[in-house]
Parts: sequence; C-alpha cells; structure tokens
Amino acid sequence: MREFDYRRAHDVAGAVALLGADPDARFLGGGTNLVDLMKTGVERPGRLVDVTDLPLDRIERTADGTLRIGATVTNSDLAVHPEIRHRFPALTQAVLAGASGQLRNMATVGGNLLQRTRCAYFTDVTSACNKRDPGSGCPAIHGEHRNHAILGASEHCVAVHPSDMGVALAAFDARVTYETADGTGELPLADFYLPVGDTPHQETALPPGALITGVTLPPAPVAAHSRYRKVRERASYAFAIGSVAAALDVRDGVVHDVRLAFGAVASRPWRAHAAEAALTGGPATADAFAAAADAELAAAAPLPDNAYKVTLIRNLVVAVLSELAEEATR
Ligand code: SF4
Repeated sequence: MREFDYRRAHDVAGAVALLGADPDARFLGGGTNLVDLMKTGVERPGRLVDVTDLPLDRIERTADGTLRIGATVTNSDLAVHPEIRHRFPALTQAVLAGASGQLRNMATVGGNLLQRTRCAYFTDVTSACNKRDPGSGCPAIHGEHRNHAILGASEHCVAVHPSDMGVALAAFDARVTYETADGTGELPLADFYLPVGDTPHQETALPPGALITGVTLPPAPVAAHSRYRKVRERASYAFAIGSVAAALDVRDGVVHDVRLAFGAVASRPWRAHAAEAALTGGPATADAFAAAADAELAAAAPLPDNAYKVTLIRNLVVAVLSELAEEATR
C-alpha cells in the first residue's frame, strides 16, 4: 500500500482548505468506491480528507417544498426518509436496488454521484484505458463491451456510469451544490457530467478542489407516481445492465406530465427528453410508449455485443409506463 496523508475535516471550509489545490488529494466519504480503487492502484491519492464528520448528513424541506439532501447522507438514510418515499418513490427504489445493505449504510449521496465506472479495463491497471491513462486507448471497443454504452459515447470511451440513484435524480431535475475556496456553486445534474468526447478522464464540471455539499430536489408532483426498474445479471448486489426511472401523470387517458431517464446506457444518467416530448399531450398507450422509446433510442449506436440494450430499454419503458398508466386509472 502506498503511503498517504489522512486528515479529518470538521467543517466545510476546513475540508476545502485541507484539500487545497493538490490534484493528488481526494475527499473521503463512505469510501465504498475510492478505497477499492486505492487497493488496486487505480487511485493513488497523496492525501485523503475525511468528510464524514461534516454537518451534511440531513435532509431538509424548504418552504416551497424543495428537498435539500446533504452530501454525507447515507444511501440507507436517503432511501427510508418519509419525504423521499412518498414524494419520490422511484428514488427510494433506485437506492434500494443498488449494492448491499452494508454498502448502503456506508455510501453517501455525494460519493454516489462521483463513483467511477466499473469497466473492467479501467479497474485493471495493466490494461490500456483512456479514462485512467489518457491517450493509451480504449480496448473495450474491440474487446469486452457487453455492458457498455449505447448512447452518448465516443471513439475514446464507451464506459457507463454505474449509479442507480443518479438515474432517478436525473429524472427529477436534481441540482448539485458544491463549495470551493471561492464560495458556493450549483450545477444542474444535466450539466454535472461532461460529454465523453476525447477527454473521458474529465468526468464532471466540478471546479478543481470543489466539495459536493448536497443535492437539491425541486417539487415535482408527478414524481409521486414514479418507479425505478433495474435489470441486472443476478438478483442482487449487481450493477445494472439497463434501468429506467419513470414518472407519469395521466388525465383522461392523456399524458399530462412525464419524466423518463435511463441507466447503464451512457457515461451519465440519461434523461430521455426526446421520449418525454413525444409522449406529452398524447395518448397513454403501450404503442405510444414504444414509439417514444424508439424516438429516444434512434440516437443509439450500439457495439456488436451490446445491441441487446436497445431492446431491453425499449421493453423497460413500455412495461414501467404501462404499469404507471394502469395504476392511474384505479
Ligand atoms: Fe477505459 Fe472507457 Fe475504454 Fe473502459 S470504455 S477501457 S473506461 S476508455
């Protein structure tokens, strides 16, 4: 094990100062991804700044109904919070679909957004990988890519983001707040992850040294009628091979409001704007749901071994939206 400096921060400003401008320093939350990557040598920080003592472990509701979720709220606490369960059930389902109970007790909201891809070449330091070692190549494109991206990828990287939580947050227009030495900032989740392009190693729009302090969820009545459906290769404790977060408001058979996001198909949670536009104001039927999925997936560019994801996501969209529409008639 490579030696590193360990510091424990007690307030946000102190944490930001401890990290400073050191590109080899990392914030440490639950450590459920970072520590694994340190063991394999993918991450080799010179300093860890432990942020688990920071007062960022609360979920608060503001006067207008916005929820402010602190960055160190654990996945377990997020999933069972009454406001989340009742107003954003797809978020509770997404969190509970991720990892194991033990990991959810450790993992934090901020860390979940920053977790790294599980591409096998990325986690194997003996392999080339543009994300880990810029310019070295992407062996996944002509190698093992069964679980890689079908949307928004590039010739430089086809990895997917592994978060379940992020998919539901993307559907509900979450915003990420952060702190730097220059003050407070905020990014819509839609702008938080950078396009892959030719810089897959640059994953987020966070300024250097920024500490994620929380996630805000604006009020979204449609979210009360939402669902997260995850497909994986075994029943539990596995990453998605495809997932859908959906919310639907149907009135007199017509789609009044809809939210749709896909997981495990791109380098970021994929908000399905084209599908939402195709559905809004139209009939809430299985044919319309399938057509909307096709509209979104028209941009898919699958590799030889992951074309199954196009069909998988299409079927998930139809199934989940049909269930929500049927429930709306009860
Ligand atoms: Fe690396 Fe991305 Fe290629 Fe995987 S898909 S080997 S993470 S560059």
